[in-house]
Amino acid sequence: VAKSQGRGKIQFYDPSIQARLQDQLQLEEDLRHALERQELHLLYQAQARAESGQAPRIVGAEALLRWQHPTRGLVSPAVFIPLAEASDLILPIGAWVLQTACRQLQAWADDPRTTDLTLAVNVSARQFLQPDFVEQVRQTLAHTGIHPRRLKLELTESTVLDNVQDTIATMQALRTLGVRLSLDDFGTGYSSLQYLKRLPLDQLKIDQAFICEITTSSADAAIVKTIVAMGHALDMQVIAEGVETAEQQQALLTYGCHYFQGYLFSRPVPVGDFEVLLGRV
Ligand code: C2E
Ligand code: MG
Ligand code: MG
Ligand code: MG
Repeated sequence: VAKSQGRGKIQFYDPSIQARLQDQLQLEEDLRHALERQELHLLYQAQARAESGQAPRIVGAEALLRWQHPTRGLVSPAVFIPLAEASDLILPIGAWVLQTACRQLQAWADDPRTTDLTLAVNVSARQFLQPDFVEQVRQTLAHTGIHPRRLKLELTESTVLDNVQDTIATMQALRTLGVRLSLDDFGTGYSSLQYLKRLPLDQLKIDQAFICEITTSSADAAIVKTIVAMGHALDMQVIAEGVETAEQQQALLTYGCHYFQGYLFSRPVPVGDFEVLLGRV
């Protein structure tokens, strides 16, 4: 039951809303301890490259965070990343993700089958806008001794466009370290092409929303085709996320997109399973 209280103000007495708020607070409190209790882990989802007429080859992976909650089971990052961002918990969590990913690249460095793999890490806005973020990345690279080009940071349009001038400076500093930068979920935000041409990006990642109907919607097909052409014209690599069928992969190849990520190749899996995949695809 909602009761109006003055102009445009509504107060809720719905006990289920109260319960939901309580639940969110509890979840946030639990998240506060998730790192020390070692409840967080990374899954790895393959990224593949295909030349026309050739079988795709795995060239890297994206690290995707998971929270194994003691009573709730596996909590989706779509649920707990926003909580972490709202409470600054994203800073230690983000640092842990970066460190864990770089340690994994370090572990792969000695094996010729894995030494060239790249690993993409999602970076949230709060994390990226920390004044010492570049220094944090530099130190993590130094401690693990990995080749910086093997690390790819995924940023989103809202992260990048919040404060374009500062963001470009930070992006340039990261690229000076040798790290690569990808614009995640491309096409869902508000990037103007004016900004896009100024951003020092290595990769555009086409959002899965455009991929899922690429073979049935001529509008989505046209959008993807245009993004691929534009990315290449701006000297960027273009990767499609959410590729689930061979038909979608074929359409992407036709449009000139040679990098893919999605269930067609692999779900996000534990590192051991990812290593098994490397021997197969
Ligand atoms: P994202 O970075 O855009 O990641 C892609 C999401 O699509 C992942 O969801 C992945 O599991 C899912 N996906 C991959 N292939 C397919 C496919 O073929 N079909 C469909 N339907 N989905 C597919 P996930 O793992 O639940 O992650 C959700 C979001 O949470 C990520 O979106 C990212 O924004 C965020 N996230 C995940 N890990 C981290 C992290 O370590 N740090 C930060 N800041 N955010 C993270
Ligand atoms: Mg991502
Ligand atoms: Mg994405
Ligand atoms: Mg996405």
